[in-house]
Amino acid sequence: EFNEKESLLILLDHARGYYKQLLWEDDEGQAIGLSYFKERGFSDETIKAFDLGYSHDKWDGFMKYASKNGFTEEMMEKAGLVLAKEDGKKYDRFRGRVMFPIHNPSGKVIGFGARILKKADNQPKYINSPESPVYYKSNVLFGMFQAKQAIRNEDNCYLVEGYTDVISMHQAGVKNVVASSGTSLTREHIKLMSRFTQNVTTLFDGDVAGIKASMRGIDMLLEEGLNVRAVVFPEGEDPDSYSQQLGASAFKAFLEKNSEDFIAFKTHLYLKDAGSDPIKKAGTIREIVGSIAKIPDAIKRLVFARECSQLMDMDEAVIVAEMNKMLIEQG
Ligand code: ATP
Ligand code: MN
Ligand code: MN
Ligand code: MN
Repeated sequence: EFNEKESLLILLDHARGYYKQLLWEDDEGQAIGLSYFKERGFSDETIKAFDLGYSHDKWDGFMKYASKNGFTEEMMEKAGLVLAKEDGKKYDRFRGRVMFPIHNPSGKVIGFGARILKKADNQPKYINSPESPVYYKSNVLFGMFQAKQAIRNEDNCYLVEGYTDVISMHQAGVKNVVASSGTSLTREHIKLMSRFTQNVTTLFDGDVAGIKASMRGIDMLLEEGLNVRAVVFPEGEDPDSYSQQLGASAFKAFLEKNSEDFIAFKTHLYLKDAGSDPIKKAGTIREIVGSIAKIPDAIKRLVFARECSQLMDMDEAVIVAEMNKMLIEQG
């Protein structure tokens, strides 16, 4: 019996080649897609390293191509490349967008992210492949295939929000970088990173809402025993825009200078809210001690408890007592 997953991977690889060829060789693809990437500062080498592509602004470009190559519409739908209307008629999911292939860690394409080129109110900026037998969102980190060797070499993994953050950082020479692509971090993501390193540095777009939403992810990294650092970008900037603006060496210096361990990071973030209000400050301390209590290693816990006591100007014994109480409650 012919293996379904294998066939889907073959179809997805055809799709990768199709969108890539449109980007480089088709008139519309060059004029619209390639020039979009160039305007964003992506070099030819970078565009090739990430297998980027372009989808035509029409209903059945890919379907026709794939049919000619012997794939059934049923398979195209299963791979998430086509959709069915209510009357059963099928059409291309990705139309008039630049294409970001999503590779598994061994380099096989398992899905796509796709960005709209012009602003349009009724269209989402990015659309992504739906889940399929070869694509489970909770298992996938964009860029892992391109990053894994650098993650091992550097013994650190940068975690960012978006596709373009990964790509621009890679181009700036920071290749140990992956993105959760708009989904919240899962245990599977963390397991995947920990195959290559125990050190994760989360990079946050400069908007407070996003940072608060990511706190749960940081606590999960701690629970899994990973060492966590964080960098916050200036307001309105993300790793893509900022690395393009600063250039490679100033960007690397920025990362070095602004990376904080997670206790310092959380403390600064919450103190900004709490100010000198004693009740809010107590809440902040409890919040941070809660994170420390999640760390499996007892010695690391004590090191962080000391750091917390210094940063919060609070007796270390009180911090440790509160932490131990939480540990007992957690069982
Ligand atoms: P760009 O620089 O191309 O405008 P970005 O990566 O900075 O995009 P963000 O708004 O910061 O975009 O979102 C981060 C990530 O979240 C995106 O890269 C994408 O994976 C995902 N995302 C953003 N908007 C959407 C959307 N409307 N639907 C699905 N996923 C999205
Ligand atoms: Mn954002
Ligand atoms: Mn962003
Ligand atoms: Mn961006």
